[in-house]
Amino acid sequence: MLCPYCQQPLLKGHIQTRGEAIKWLREEKEKPIIESRWKIGEGEIALGHYRFIGGDDVEAYCCPACHKIIIDYK
Ligand SMILES: [Zn+2]
Repeated sequence: MLCPYCQQPLLKGHIQTRGEAIKWLREEKEKPIIESRWKIGEGEIALGHYRFIGGDDVEAYCCPACHKIIIDYK
């Protein structure tokens, strides 16, 4: 797969956590002080496949040339 920004080859990999869900949220939304580590709230997008034991894991592609990480969320 090639980077859509610079057309260089992407490196396939993962973004992982040990206990928290990986999610996207809008710029103006801040992370609450108290919230479960795996909650995906209204308007948020789950990026990985969260498991209570093991945390989250999402396939991601890295472009070393332009320093971008690309994730499919569905
Ligand atoms: Zn690139």
